[in-house]
Amino acid sequence: MVEIAVLLPTPAYSRLSGPLSYSHSQALQAGQLVRVPLGQRHSLGLVWHPPTTPAPQAMALKPIEQVLEGIPALSAQWLQLVDFAAHYYQRSLGEFALACLPPQLRDLSNEQLARKLKKRSKINGLQAPNGGLSEPVLTPEQAQVLARMASESGPFVLHGNTGSGKTEVYLRRAAQVLAADPQAQVLMLVPEINLTPQLEQRVRQRFAHLGEAAIVTLHSGMTPAQRLDHWLSAHTGQARLLLGTRMAVLASLPHLKLIVVDEEHDPSYKQQEGARYSARDLAVYRGQLDGAQVILGSATPSLESWHHSRAAVVGEPAPRYQRLSMPSRVGDAALPQLRRVDMNHQPRKTLVSAPLLAAMRERLARREQVLVLLNRRGYAPVLHCAACGWKSECPHCSAYRVFHKSDRTLRCHHCSLTQAVPRACPGCGNQDIGSFGHGTERLEEHLAELLVDLQRADGSPLRIARIDADTTRLKGELVRQLAEVHDGDVDVLVGTQMVAKGHDFRRVTLVAALNPDGALFSSDFRAPERLFALLMQAAGRAGRDAALSSHSACEMWVQTFHPTHPLFETLKQHDFAAFAAQQLEERRQAGLPPFSFQALVRAEARSQEAAQAFLNAAAAAGQTWLGELELAVTLYPAVPMSMQRVANVERAQMLIESQSRPALQHFLAAWQADLQHLRTSHKAVMRWAIDVDPLAI
Ligand code: ADP
Ligand code: ZN
Ligand code: ZN
Repeated sequence: MVEIAVLLPTPAYSRLSGPLSYSHSQALQAGQLVRVPLGQRHSLGLVWHPPTTPAPQAMALKPIEQVLEGIPALSAQWLQLVDFAAHYYQRSLGEFALACLPPQLRDLSNEQLARKLKKRSKINGLQAPNGGLSEPVLTPEQAQVLARMASESGPFVLHGNTGSGKTEVYLRRAAQVLAADPQAQVLMLVPEINLTPQLEQRVRQRFAHLGEAAIVTLHSGMTPAQRLDHWLSAHTGQARLLLGTRMAVLASLPHLKLIVVDEEHDPSYKQQEGARYSARDLAVYRGQLDGAQVILGSATPSLESWHHSRAAVVGEPAPRYQRLSMPSRVGDAALPQLRRVDMNHQPRKTLVSAPLLAAMRERLARREQVLVLLNRRGYAPVLHCAACGWKSECPHCSAYRVFHKSDRTLRCHHCSLTQAVPRACPGCGNQDIGSFGHGTERLEEHLAELLVDLQRADGSPLRIARIDADTTRLKGELVRQLAEVHDGDVDVLVGTQMVAKGHDFRRVTLVAALNPDGALFSSDFRAPERLFALLMQAAGRAGRDAALSSHSACEMWVQTFHPTHPLFETLKQHDFAAFAAQQLEERRQAGLPPFSFQALVRAEARSQEAAQAFLNAAAAAGQTWLGELELAVTLYPAVPMSMQRVANVERAQMLIESQSRPALQHFLAAWQADLQHLRTSHKAVMRWAIDVDPLAI
């Protein structure tokens, strides 16, 4: 009998959180998958660095029930990746590692798994002989960037304007890597696959010659069976290219040679629950482990990546990333011009200003498409009664319920509480309930009125469509609606920021953001960065068709009360570098990331006092030994979260900051014990969690 250490999906607060020992008739390799008894249940487990000498009490150990045969062991690099990630993001190793595996592995028998593997191995034969032929001639910028990638190791920050041909660079680099090594695998990460169905098509076309089975996807919208299928394909090396969302960074890819992170600034690379990892940051770490090249691409890189790819200065440590630039758009498509409408000079409560409306009408008369962004869904964000002051507050959250006209409901966007709109004011019976503000539903209605006299080429009425979380709730709806816009069946598209991402709407020549001011003075220091990225990306939807934009420059319109704000000035110049320099200088002076490192602890309880008391007690405990360790870490007092109450749960948070990442890491790892211990005496606390490198504060 040999003692085998096995990782199990047990949370950090569990007594059993480390690897547990089991016995087996022979030694097993680290990374092998096994089934073991755990209490009254059975669990999937992962063999961890197996002890080489038999433990003295080996006979008392429970035996491993089954080894998952036919599935190769996970690689040493993969084990190291999850080990690093679990520690860095302060999670239990077993819980984290097992969560990276497809859930169905737990349930299928060895026979079922064997059948799956066999089935997959058969579909490899379908190779399209003509694949890879439709490659365009590279632009000089693309060629230059690719030459650097071929001769330097990276990691690279590819700063390319929207429409500069970044995707073409990814595909070309992937083709080179795949051709150089018959086993090589490529990982392409995208923020959201559903938003960019065109990308998957493009990848499949380009690599058709590798066979259908060589390209697989991985994202949360898949069925458990598909997910297992695709995971196995990547794990066994059959898949050569894996296209996926953030979860894919943790897939097993034994021959990984290239990782592309498209739109690397996108907040959806940060997991917001459970293990709060950053797929972009893990991609860089993983590249180093696997010896895979990493490309972080964006028109508006995160300020972290921008800072880490600054020019080298003699006498200072070398920057971590290489920056590559593609400032020009493919063809002669011009970048859109920024037009600002000063809302101080517009009638109060104007939703669509007169100059913007005139510009839209002009475009529509020329059969061009218009995209209008408003970051609020529903009809009106608040209902109110002028007589008694009643407002449509959610009884369970610190938020207003939003009026949705299509089904006449009041809906809380935080706890989903949905009720019919009252006929009269619940406070005083007044029949005349009013509303504040505008959502996409109301905008759609308003535009239909404003544009009622315009017609399409065939004389039919103009088509106005709306895309937001409400219209795309049903599976497949988003893809269908996007295709309609893409095919030119829609003249005016109204939407939330969801529609600003990488679509290629060829006939859009005017994009308008109606109310972007909120982010200019937000308490979240990342809000301007996100706004700039959103507007750049939205503007990038316009004028992608060089033929169209040559006879009329495409435009990005912004309605604002602060037209001279520096953010709009740099946006007007398409000068991301100037914007970034100014933001980074502010952050440097304020000691904010990337010049410091942060973590948040959040606690939830029935009362705000209880949540804060727990955090403050934990801080006090941490302070007592922080000094002894001489770690320069600052603990700020607990405060209510900006969304303080959701579904009757009070939320509080505490910021932890340090100039040194290792110091912060060291502190957090040790502090976990305090938090776990205090949790037992603070019984009112329902949940707590640590978020390392938080994106929203
Ligand atoms: P980005 O990802 O930077 O926004 P894309 O890679 O999507 O840009 O390229 C924008 C458009 O230009 C796409 O329609 C693409 O097919 C086309 N394109 C890219 N590179 C070239 C090239 N070298 N020659 C011709 N067209 C190109
Ligand atoms: Zn009232
Ligand atoms: Zn609510």
